[in-house]
Amino acid sequence: MSQRATYTTTFGAMPSTSRILLLAGTSEATALTKVLEPLDHIALTVSFAGRTSRPQSVAGRQRIGGFGGVDGLAGYLLHNKVDVLVDATHPFAARMRWNAHLACERLGIARVRIERPPWIPIPGDRWRMVPTLADAPDALAGALRVFLTTGRQDLGPFVDMRDTWFLVRSIEPPDPMPLVHAEVLLDRGPFTLERERSLLERREIDVLVTKNSGGASTAPKLLAARELGVDVVMVERPPSPPGPQFSSVAATLTWLERVLASR
Ligand code: NAP
Repeated sequence: MSQRATYTTTFGAMPSTSRILLLAGTSEATALTKVLEPLDHIALTVSFAGRTSRPQSVAGRQRIGGFGGVDGLAGYLLHNKVDVLVDATHPFAARMRWNAHLACERLGIARVRIERPPWIPIPGDRWRMVPTLADAPDALAGALRVFLTTGRQDLGPFVDMRDTWFLVRSIEPPDPMPLVHAEVLLDRGPFTLERERSLLERREIDVLVTKNSGGASTAPKLLAARELGVDVVMVERPPSPPGPQFSSVAATLTWLERVLASR
C-alpha cells in the first residue's frame, strides 16, 4: 500500500463521537491516521510499541509502549471507552494481533485488521519458502555471503552459522551484534532497484533472507535478486486471528464507516 495514495472519504454524518484505538507501526497505519485524525466525530488514539528510538511523529493523540498482554489491553479499552480497535500492526508482528482479538472478543468491541498483500514469486525468482525465521538457517546450507534484511531483533537464529559472512541491514544497530562475521548497514526504505542491485553485486551476495513483509518500499531487493540470479530465503507470515481483515486502506475505511454508522 502506497503512503502517497490519498483517500477522500468523509465518513458522512455520524450519530456520536466514536473512540478508535489504532495499533500502528506501518505505512498503512500512517495512511489511516491521516484520514481519521482530522474527522470531528472520531477521537483517534494511535498506539506504538516503542521499538524505535525516534518514534514517528503523528498528528493527534498517541501513546507509546505495550499494554501488558491481553488483560492490560482489555483494561485500556474499558478505561478509555474504546468503540473500535483497528489493528494495523506489521505482517510479522505476531503477538499483538492475537492480544487484540482476545481482548476485543472478551469485551464485545469491534475490531478490524489491515495487512498489506504479501509478495508473490514470478518466473525468474529463486525463492525458498520457510515457515518461520527459525527455519531459515537450514535453507542457507552452503551459503557464504548472506544479506539479512529481517531486522536487528531477528539475528538469533543465525548465531551458529560461524562460517558465513552476513550483511545485516537494519534501521538501528543490533546491540549487541551476535553474529561472528557481519557488517551492519544502517538504512531504511524506500530502496531503489539501482542501489539494491549495486549492493548485491558489490558485496557478492549468494543469498538474500527476507520476511514476506510485502509493500513497494522494500520490494526492489527482490527485483535485484531476480535480475542477478541471487537465491532468496523467504520467511512466510505468521497466522492471523479470525475476523474482518483487509489488504487495503480503502477497504478498511469502508468497513469502519459502515460499523460506525450502525452504532
Ligand atoms: P508483536 O510481537 O506482535 O508484539 C509484541 C508486544 O509489543 C505486544 O504483545 C505488545 O505488548 C507490544 N506491541 C506491539 N505492537 C504494539 C502497538 N502498536 N502498540 C502498543 N504495543 C504494541 O510485535 P513486534 O514484532 O514486536 O513489533 C512491534 C511493533 O513494531 C508493532 O507495532 C509492529 O507494527 C511494528 N513493526 C514490526 C515489524 C516486524 O517485523 N515484526 C516490522 C515493522 C514494524 P503488550 O503485550 O505489553 O501489550
